[in-house]
Formats: sequence, structure tokens, C-alpha cells
Amino acid sequence: MAERSIIIIGAGMAGLSAGCYARMNGYKTRIFELHNLPGGLCTSWKRKGYTIDGCIHWLTGSSWGTLYRVYEELGAVQGRQMVDHEVFVRVESDGKTFIVYNDIDRLEQHMKELAPGDAGVIGEFCNALRVLAGREMPSDKPIELMGLVDKLRATKALSVLKAMHKYGRVSIQQFAARFTDPFMREVFPEAMANMPDLSISGLMMALAYGHGRNAGYPVGGSLEFSKAIERRYLGLGGEIRYKARVERVLVENNSAVGVRLADGTEHRADVVVSAADGRTTIFDMLGGRYVDDSIRRYYDKWPVYEGFLQVSLGVAHDFSAEPQSLAFRLDDPVQVGDQSRHWMQMRHFCYDPTMAPEGKSVVIATYAFTNPEYWNKLYADQEKYRAEKQALADAVIDRLDKRFPGFREKVEVVDVATPVTFERYTGNWKGSYMGWMATPATEGTWMKRTLPGLANFYMAGQWVFMGGGVPGAILSGRHAMQVICKKDGKKFRTSTP
Ligand SMILES: Cc1cc2nc3c(=O)[nH]c(=O)nc-3n(C[C@H](O)[C@H](O)[C@H](O)COP(=O)(O)OP(=O)(O)OC[C@H]3O[C@@H](n4cnc5c(N)ncnc54)[C@H](O)[C@@H]3O)c2cc1C
Repeated sequence: MAERSIIIIGAGMAGLSAGCYARMNGYKTRIFELHNLPGGLCTSWKRKGYTIDGCIHWLTGSSWGTLYRVYEELGAVQGRQMVDHEVFVRVESDGKTFIVYNDIDRLEQHMKELAPGDAGVIGEFCNALRVLAGREMPSDKPIELMGLVDKLRATKALSVLKAMHKYGRVSIQQFAARFTDPFMREVFPEAMANMPDLSISGLMMALAYGHGRNAGYPVGGSLEFSKAIERRYLGLGGEIRYKARVERVLVENNSAVGVRLADGTEHRADVVVSAADGRTTIFDMLGGRYVDDSIRRYYDKWPVYEGFLQVSLGVAHDFSAEPQSLAFRLDDPVQVGDQSRHWMQMRHFCYDPTMAPEGKSVVIATYAFTNPEYWNKLYADQEKYRAEKQALADAVIDRLDKRFPGFREKVEVVDVATPVTFERYTGNWKGSYMGWMATPATEGTWMKRTLPGLANFYMAGQWVFMGGGVPGAILSGRHAMQVICKKDGKKFRTSTP
């Protein structure tokens, strides 16, 4: 029988994963990617001898479990060193320090020393971490293919599911409000880079995986991780075309039959999988013809991880003695676009020798939830846009100079990526860096990977599951292929290189 063919839109984590599994299952595949590199958001870039990483701080499943096995199938982790940190983040305010240890016992002891009057709530928090640590959510099959046996297997993870459900309905801000100690109340939300609306379960999962030494950082950085999966895909015989923007999904008789690129060429296949931005896929590439109320509701109402901004600095100084992830309160706030920010979140990458020349460091300050509309408008006036980026970089350097005297003189490289940068390079709506945000309002919701009324079309990537991230994107590509194989009557196959 002739190979059935699949076109995949986007060579991010989801698109590459879908491509690899499609090849393992005997489909002829072509990926069309608008950029000239694989990885999408999972990327890094070079500046004068420094490598600036734009993605992975921690990779869940970095050393064991279902996810690790999936990374192995994709050739992403073989021979790759993972770095596990003792400390998730260190938070400083008013001369006091909250150290968010990855070890749960140590964290509990430290929190109780800082806020003895809050022993009860601290105990509850750490016990929830203990429930989550070392256990996995069932993820090797998409929910629509789970049979009775899988569901029974999933009951093994019942305690995890129950904890996720309970704490998925509580935001970080709501949980922090339960502390009576004013310092703990102030610094606790900074444990998760000040995302007060995020469900506390998101922070709990990150710490639980960290405790299990299963949320490491892959040495070599994000682009190398992506390139390893691209190599696997090409090795499996997949095709990929870069600088190929898909403008339209071609539809005949309510069935996807191919794509039209920005250069006007048309390409046909039996199945189309979009692993590109969800909003662009549904409302632009398909003209909004295949939506229902639930899909409209996500795009109208649901919170998105939006407006990411990163100030990256190449510094002629070895920062390895400093905390790798640090948040500190500023006496003098930084103006980030139209917002005033009172916290500095910074990290360095000295634990990865490939990121900077010897004795030098990359230091990155990040801001989530800046206003993407503000930056989009500003971008129309290039002179003003550049001036504002420079002013922001100067302000960041100034505050870092106060925290680390002499910092300013050592800065060799300045690079500012705004929400416009993320949108331009990856097509993600609102410069989103992780898609949908899991908040109490979205707890228990999930998205379909097909669209109503459209056959032979599937979606993968951070817009079809809650919470974003590399592992979820990779799984969503695998899940899409599991569903396609099932529909085609094929047993889903995997192989490890
Ligand atoms: C700063 C930052 C830090 C992060 N930190 C972490 C972390 O520590 N751990 C973690 O797990 N995750 C992290 N993430 C999130 C993670 O990177 C993403 O959730 C994940 O990579 C999304 O993958 P994706 O394939 O769904 O989407 P994308 O990466 O957006 O891939 C979509 C691809 O489609 C292409 N495309 C778009 N439109 C078109 C078109 N019209 N035609 C052709 N191609 C198109 C894009 O160029 C892109 O390559 C971080 C992200 C950022 C930005």
C-alpha cells in the first residue's frame, strides 16, 4: 500500500515530535516552517561569542519516567548532561531571603524558620509536594484513546490527580494570602516569577519534579535540544522546508487536503497537522470556518501566558558563585513598557559551559505579562521601539549594578527580546511563550485536537493543552499521531535510535 502523506505546519517541539512519530509509523511527511531553524520557542541565539537561551529553565522528565522515554524515542537526551539545581529560586526583600529549595524537607524546615506562625499552611504545602513527588500523571496515551485498562492504570496516580484538582482551583495569590507572616506573604508569589493568577498546582508540580531530580536543565541549551530532535526526524527520512510560511490550509468538501504557502505554491497531503499558533491556524489559515462556541470561548476569554520580555546580557565576569535564579525587590522600580515593575527576576547560565566564553557569563532578566499591545504599537515606530529597548536595558543594568557592584563596566553584549520578537519569530499570538495559563478558572478544561466539521485535520502544540511547556508540546505531537494511527487502523509504533 502506498504511504499515506502528512503535512505538518511548524517545526517547533510539537511539529518535530509529530513528524518523528509519523515517520516511525510509515507516513510520508513534510514539515513547513516559517523560520530558518527548528525549535520554535525552544531556541537560543548567538551574540558575539555568548549563547543566549530563550527557553528551557527546567525540563520535566529530564531523567526518568514516561517523558524521559519519549525524549529517548526522539533522540533528544542520549548523551546529554542534565543539571539539577539544589535551589529553584532565591527571593530577596528588605534584607531577608527566602530560599526555595528543591528538597522538600529542607524547604519545609526553612519556611518554618522564616514563618513559624504559619507552620500549618507550610506543612500542607509541603505535604502536597510529597504527594506529587516521584509520581507521574498518566501521559503516554491521549485521553480519547484511553480504555478501561488505561483508566485502571491511571487510578495508581489517583493521589496525584486529586491533589492537582484540589490545588488547581487555588491561585498562587490566594494560597499566599493564607500566610500570616508578612514576609512570606510578599515573597511566596515570587517563587513562580510573580504569576499570582497561576494555579498553585503549577508551582507544586515544578517543585515536585525538582525534588525528584527530574526537572533538570539540558546542557547545550534549548536550540541544541531542538536540533537533536530535528536530526532524529531527518534520520527517519522526514522532509522539512524552512522559510516556508503557510498561509492557508486547503479544504475540499470539508476535508483538509493540503496547504498554500506565502509564495503561492500549493502542497497536497492526505492529512494536515497544524503545530503552529492556534489562533492563526483556526482564524487565519482556516478563515474561522470550523469553530464552535467552546473554541470561541477559549480565544475570547481564557488567560494566556502573554507578553514575555527578556533582557539578556553578556558579562565579562564569572557569576558561578551567585544564585543561578534570583528574584529581588527593587527600591527603584523598572519601567517595562507601560508598566512599573518592582521585582527583578534574573538567572545566569554558568552551570552550562557552552553558553559563554570561559570566565564570562550570560545574565538574563525576564518579565512576563508585559502588555503585548503596547509593544506591538511601539514597533510601528522603529526609532522609538529601539530607544525604549535601550532605555529598558539601561535600567536593568543599573539595578544589577546596584546588586552586583561593578556589573555595568563588565557588560559586553546587550540583547532585548520583546513580545514582538517572540511573535515575529514564532507566530505566537500575544507573544505567548507557553499558550494557555492554568488558573482556577480553567481548572479541569481541555481542548480538542480536531475542529468541528473538518476531516483529516489535527492540531498539536501548546494551544491544544493547558499550561504550555516543552514536554506537553512533545506529547501533543505524539498524541496527535496516536489518534491518526488509530483512525487509519495502524498499531502505533515507537522506536529508539
Ligand atoms: C523564555 C521562555 C522560557 C520557557 N521556559 C520553559 C521551560 O523552562 N520549560 C518548558 O518546558 N517550557 C518552557 N517554555 C515553553 C516552551 O518553549 C513552549 O511551550 C514550547 O516550546 C511550545 O512548543 P510548540 O511546538 O507548541 O510551539 P512553537 O514553539 O511556537 O512552535 C510552533 C512553530 O510553528 C512555526 N509557525 C508558526 N506559524 C507558521 C506558519 N504560518 N507557517 C509555518 N510555520 C509556522 C513557528 O515558527 C514555530 O517554529 C519557555 C518558553 C519561553 C519563550
